[in-house]
Formats: sequence, structure tokens, C-alpha cells
Amino acid sequence: MFIEQPPWFYRALFPGTIWRIPGKEKCVYLTFDDGPIPGITPWVLDVLEKYNVKATFFCVGDNVRKYPEVFRMILERGHRIGNHTYNHIQGIQYWTKNYMANVEKAAEVIQSDLFRPPHGHMRRPQVFRLRKKYRIIMWDVVTRDYSPHMTSKGVFNVVKNYTRNGSIIVFHDSVKAERNIRGALPKAIEWLQEQGYTFKLFD
Ligand SMILES: [Zn+2]
Repeated sequence: MFIEQPPWFYRALFPGTIWRIPGKEKCVYLTFDDGPIPGITPWVLDVLEKYNVKATFFCVGDNVRKYPEVFRMILERGHRIGNHTYNHIQGIQYWTKNYMANVEKAAEVIQSDLFRPPHGHMRRPQVFRLRKKYRIIMWDVVTRDYSPHMTSKGVFNVVKNYTRNGSIIVFHDSVKAERNIRGALPKAIEWLQEQGYTFKLFD
């Protein structure tokens, strides 16, 4: 529960960050972290296209460097991108200066005003520094698709059990998550559409 849907007191640790954006009508924000990865990100893009859904990809700068053609596909298909640092580093393990340098290095290849911290960890000074340049997009539902202990059915159930109006939902287009998203993502999108959710992009 704590992981799948962070409680208010956890959210309060990071002032001015965005966890959920309820709309007048039921909506969700699909997000994919840690790509771009060949074979996985293009598969996600095909699924999204099949269901006519737009999403936001929080990319790792070093992956953009390695796989620029996959990164271009994300943009060409009309999705939104965000900065997820250059080396997927955890804020609590770095001095703010070094953390920000890694974010800036990623910004050279990822032009975006959106940022999501890897592992959800940031020191307070990092939050304040980041907020000057970025909207910090956290999450309302973590599918735990990256976990080796999860099944695709489990991932689908997280979406069913925790999604509400305005939920920002986290998936991963990563090697670790591949097995689970291949089973869960199409079903999750179908279920959300059946429930009347529309899929929105951050303004
Ligand atoms: Zn990540």
C-alpha cells in the first residue's frame, strides 16, 4: 500500500511536487521511466498507438545517448518527455551540486520542463533547486512492474485497485519490467478505457 500509493505524509516531504491532477472528467496520466531501450520502448509505443493513447516518458540521459533513434521515435509519435537524470542517480547519495550537474547533463539531450527523481528520492535543497527549472512529477500509482516478485496479473491489479481520477501512473520501459509490462500494459489500458478514463499529457 505504502509503495503502490504513497500516503500524504510521504508526499508532504517534497513540497511543490505533483502527485495527482484530478480533472473535471475522469482522467489519468500514463508515465514510463528509465528508457529509451531498444525492443521495449518501441513495443510500448506500438501498444500506445494501438489504443490511441499519449504518455510521458521520463528518460535517462545516458540511454538517450546510446539509443537516439529510439528516443526520436517517442517524440515523433507525439508523446511527452521528461528528465530522469543522466545516470539514474539517487538524490540522497549526492551533494546537491553534483546531483544538479547530472540533471543538467541530461537536459542537454532531453529538452523538457518536466523532471522525475529516480527512486523518488531527493534532498530538500535539491527539490528547491529543481523547482526553479522543472515541474517535478511524482506519482499516485506505482505498478511495481520492475519487481521480480511481481506478476503481470499483479501489476494489472495494482492499476485496478489504486487508480482514481487524476492518477499519475508509473510503468517502466526497462529490461527489468519487460516481462510484467508485456502482460499487463494492454490489459491495463483496456480496463482504464472501459472505466471511462481519458489519457492526458502534462500541460
Ligand atoms: Zn527510474
